Amino acid sequence: MRVVRDISIVALFVLIACMVAWYLFRSGYPLPPVIRRVIPVRPPTPEGILLHHSATPFRLKGRMVDAKKLDEMHRQRGFDIVCEGKTYHIGYHYVILPDGRVQAGRPENCPGAHSGITYYNQRYLGVCVVGDFDSHGRWNGRRSPKQPTEAQIRSLVKLCVRLMRKYNIPLQNVRRHRDVNQTYCPGDQFPYRRLQSLIAQELEQRTQNASNTLESR
Ligand SMILES: [Zn+2]
Repeated sequence: MRVVRDISIVALFVLIACMVAWYLFRSGYPLPPVIRRVIPVRPPTPEGILLHHSATPFRLKGRMVDAKKLDEMHRQRGFDIVCEGKTYHIGYHYVILPDGRVQAGRPENCPGAHSGITYYNQRYLGVCVVGDFDSHGRWNGRRSPKQPTEAQIRSLVKLCVRLMRKYNIPLQNVRRHRDVNQTYCPGDQFPYRRLQSLIAQELEQRTQNASNTLESR
């Protein structure tokens, strides 16, 4: 009788541990490195782009907020992943600096850690625009503008169009973090509608240029 009781208690603990691990995995927490090495989960081809802001001013404690700084910030939050033999802490695939420079975070074929939801981490590329564009945010309009700079918008349009053409991503799959999870990210001051129409214009322009080139051949 006692053996049966002991086995049931152990089984109950194992069941609870599995449920907790599954819940954390579904919530977007990375699996422990030991498990990830045994089961290398390759993400599928990206099917969308998820837009974020860094929710910081352009500079923090005298240092520019860039991919390196975000890597350090995400290291503290335990977002690390081993992808193709290299460790990445930064959860985003790209970072767009105030002057429009685009910095690489994780490689595009590695799953991200930017949405809090496994589905979007694995299937959407995370693009972070540096700044705080949320009127509820601590840094919105303090030490940095309320909205992305024109240089950021231009680079974001180009980056989105490049990724959309590369992976056949439709415009409706260029979404904001707030569209998929409970967050204000990338903020209510982020000009999403304008971005969508700029991307549509750029795509139209490229299609036109391509057909002009074909005609002139
Ligand atoms: Zn976000």
